[in-house]
Amino acid sequence: MDTDVEGGAGRGVVVVGAGPTGLLLAGDLATAGVPVTVLEKRPHRISNLSRAFAVHARTLEQLDARGLADELEAAGEPLTRLGFFGRLRIDLSELPSRYRHVLVIPQYEVERALERRAVAAGVAFRYETEVTGLTQDADGVTVLASRPDGRTERLRAAYVVGTDGMRSTVRRAVGLPFPGRSVIRSVVLADVLLAEQPPSLLTANAVGDAFAFLAPFGDGYYRVIGWHRRHDVPDDAPVDLAEIKEITRLALGRDYGMHDARWMSRFHSDERQAPSYRVGRVFLAGDAAHVHTPAGGQGMNTGLQDAANLSWKLAAVLHGRSDPALLDTYQFERHPVGRTVLRSSGGIIRLAMAKHPWSLAAREAFATLLSAVPPLRRKVTSQITGLGYRYPAPRGAHPLTGRRAPDIALTRHTRLYEALRDGHFVLITPGRYAGTRPANLTVDEWRGDRRTTLLVRPDGYVAWAYDGEDPGETERAVREHVGAAA
Ligand SMILES: Cc1cc2nc3c(=O)[nH]c(=O)nc-3n(C[C@H](O)[C@H](O)[C@H](O)COP(=O)(O)OP(=O)(O)OC[C@H]3O[C@@H](n4cnc5c(N)ncnc54)[C@H](O)[C@@H]3O)c2cc1C
Repeated sequence: MDTDVEGGAGRGVVVVGAGPTGLLLAGDLATAGVPVTVLEKRPHRISNLSRAFAVHARTLEQLDARGLADELEAAGEPLTRLGFFGRLRIDLSELPSRYRHVLVIPQYEVERALERRAVAAGVAFRYETEVTGLTQDADGVTVLASRPDGRTERLRAAYVVGTDGMRSTVRRAVGLPFPGRSVIRSVVLADVLLAEQPPSLLTANAVGDAFAFLAPFGDGYYRVIGWHRRHDVPDDAPVDLAEIKEITRLALGRDYGMHDARWMSRFHSDERQAPSYRVGRVFLAGDAAHVHTPAGGQGMNTGLQDAANLSWKLAAVLHGRSDPALLDTYQFERHPVGRTVLRSSGGIIRLAMAKHPWSLAAREAFATLLSAVPPLRRKVTSQITGLGYRYPAPRGAHPLTGRRAPDIALTRHTRLYEALRDGHFVLITPGRYAGTRPANLTVDEWRGDRRTTLLVRPDGYVAWAYDGEDPGETERAVREHVGAAA
């Protein structure tokens, strides 16, 4: 059976995998008017395998730009301090963001909101449909998928994005390796009820060979993650609550009377990154492109940022507003971020697992340095929260180019992240703008007397900035970045 993703080859996108990365990407593409089909091997139900529980400030800003942050904020628990290695505290209350905290909320709540948005935008979902391979040519990609009735379907699309997680079939189909290594093995996870409440919102500690972490989901359940260095068994070894309780007691001093686990699992954590996020018309995003340890709560957050970076570029190219070369910037911009996240989460886990005197000393030195040197602390905080990433800018560009745009107060739309909700570029001017207004451009004015003209990309990064007063310069930038087509 052959299916063209609406409109025939050359127009639509197939997204493989309905995890958070695929859901955000598909919702963005459909909002931008691109025909998009999501293929997901799971049956259609909300997975209870809630893995991520931390949504960082930059991700909250991206969700705000899609009108989803308020409902998630209402459902989760804000945490204004992060604790590492027993004594190091990172205060988030002064973050330069509307979101001065990390939001503790189960991953499935984020997925639920993203799926609802994608459905409303017109994404076609095919559940119980497993992608088994693909081939590509100059005009498009042919995806092979096995359907619930056992038949094989062939879908044709202009582009395919593999958001199919760590064991990505798409990655393998395009022949990309996934170099790296296993970092920690035999980590046990459970969602449990507690008889006693822990003293703080997030509780983590390591004693001797045991490490444990507790975080609330807001629905009465707590996520417990435990690891014991000497208990190294395969992922498919059965898990029971007694093992988790014992590790928790060793690491935290008590098990808080945990009972009634609704879910338990054992996993190992790898650090891997694909050398390229693109082969021809096929892209990788999220865990399909990079995986790392859960330390720092970065995985889902990084995948969502990948999706936000790629979606508007694919839409611009498919609508003929941008040259396909724009798609190369996905690799230039996101691959280095993935590498940094791998390094930082790997660093946190290695320091947390420190056992030998020299590594314990290194951990102490690092914690002391961070406590004593505010610029270093700010750098680490801006990386963990995702607020500090900056994309490469062309030589000679305005210093703001490539930087994250903060939530600027505007005249008509109140603030920038509200203005971004249409998925368009936003031009912010000091005065009235009389130039070209392509359909995908929102124009607004600074509230206050700032003189810089800013062109903000749909993903909230500065595409172009200008301190002069020549309207011709702004007009040229709009044509170059936004495109003149209606
Ligand atoms: C214990 C733990 C704690 C974590 N905590 C955090 C945290 O606090 N914050 C954070 O940001 N991240 C965290 N993470 C990481 C986070 O869960 C992942 O990074 C995130 O789920 C990745 O999203 P994704 O959409 O890229 O991939 P996935 O969520 O893996 O989704 C991939 C989807 O593709 C589907 N699929 C796979 N193969 C195929 C195929 N061939 N055909 C069709 N469909 C297919 C799968 O069924 C799945 O639905 C944690 C992870 C773990 C294990």
